[in-house]
Amino acid sequence: MEFQLSEEQRMFADSVAAFARGELQAGARERAHAGEFPREVAQQMARAGLLGITLPEADGGGGGTLMDAVIAIEQVARFCPRSADVVQEGNFGAIRVLAHFASEDQKRRYLAPVLRGDEIIAVAMTEPDAGSATTDLKTTATPDGSGFRINGSKVFPNPHADQYLVYVRFGPGVGGIGSVMLRRGAPGFTIAPPAKYMSGGEWAPLFFDNVYVPPEDVLLPAGGFKKQISGFNAERVGNAARSLAYGRYCFDLAREYVMQRRQFGRPLCEFQGLQWKFAQMQMQLDAAQLLLYRAAVNADRGFPDAAETTIAKHMCNKAGFEVINEAMQCMGGLGYTQETLVEYCLRRSRGWMIAGGSLEMMKNRLAEIIFDRRFPQRPPKPH
Ligand SMILES: Cc1cc2nc3c(=O)[nH]c(=O)nc-3n(C[C@H](O)[C@H](O)[C@H](O)COP(=O)(O)OP(=O)(O)OC[C@H]3O[C@@H](n4cnc5c(N)ncnc54)[C@H](O)[C@@H]3O)c2cc1C
Repeated sequence: MEFQLSEEQRMFADSVAAFARGELQAGARERAHAGEFPREVAQQMARAGLLGITLPEADGGGGGTLMDAVIAIEQVARFCPRSADVVQEGNFGAIRVLAHFASEDQKRRYLAPVLRGDEIIAVAMTEPDAGSATTDLKTTATPDGSGFRINGSKVFPNPHADQYLVYVRFGPGVGGIGSVMLRRGAPGFTIAPPAKYMSGGEWAPLFFDNVYVPPEDVLLPAGGFKKQISGFNAERVGNAARSLAYGRYCFDLAREYVMQRRQFGRPLCEFQGLQWKFAQMQMQLDAAQLLLYRAAVNADRGFPDAAETTIAKHMCNKAGFEVINEAMQCMGGLGYTQETLVEYCLRRSRGWMIAGGSLEMMKNRLAEIIFDRRFPQRPPKPH
């Protein structure tokens, strides 16, 4: 395993940092406190080549690796934590599943506008009765002529997206699950008024009332669930990268602060009680970073390995949140105010321990990999 960035990666990191410093840093606070997705940043990033970094050039992508996309998240988050969400949306989430499995026609109609920064894509997977138990989803796709009628509801996605990759049930069981692409505004597709997460970001329930989906908008037919989930591992790498990047952002702020701030006649960094916190934070960040890089480097241009992703997500989610929490402690009352983004990072990173596969589900998945067998979570069926 290579522990240093290559010359090419360092140059890429420097160019992303220059872009983020110049274009994004100034509005970082406003963006963090706005509920809406920073749409204008998507267009800036499209122009800077930061959307679709890992996608083939033939599809309008950058032909880069997953590690390049991780570097982009890290560098953007250094200057504007909220804008790292745009790197996520344009490189790691639903876009990867779409790009991998879409027909040429779907790429033209759905992928291309996302890569231009003109449209936002979101995944609509979770349902009121199907959270961690994703395969319990009830939203149905029933044949109607050559197309399908969608009925059901979803919770938690970004309510401001233009297009949704919707997990649906074409038939019973795990084998009946696939996905369709739906545009906002389709007849029968309602997005409830947005509600707020603890982070200030917005979500909303989606309702599908006999929404017609033509055959050309089916992304993955019945049998597509495993493919969707393997694509979802890329989402988890982005989720992990943001947790860690937020941790580093707060670590750096707190480090500067304790070198400047004086109490009892000396800088805070001279107190061993705080020095040990920083030593611990640095170790947590570095350890998690190696696990993140392992998952990203080994994936190259493909989907990351399930075990490596699971470990990286769990460790980065925990390290990121714990480091931010300690950074806040080191900054005293100031860290708890909205004068810096430390409190935002704390609220935001907390959600990543739940989203994209909770910490507990990551451990369940890893146990199955370790023992090379399934551990059904559902109660046994009565005989
Ligand atoms: C910030 C954020 C953004 C999100 N974005 C989206 C989005 O864009 N699209 C979308 O579709 N969804 C989204 N979600 C929803 C997310 O995927 C779900 O919240 C997640 O899958 C957990 O489901 P749940 O909330 O129903 O919790 P539940 O599944 O009800 O779980 C509750 C608790 O029980 C634990 N638990 C459940 N089953 C087990 C088990 N077998 N073993 C051990 N522990 C278990 C869980 O880990 C959790 O701690 C988002 C969530 C958050 C917080």
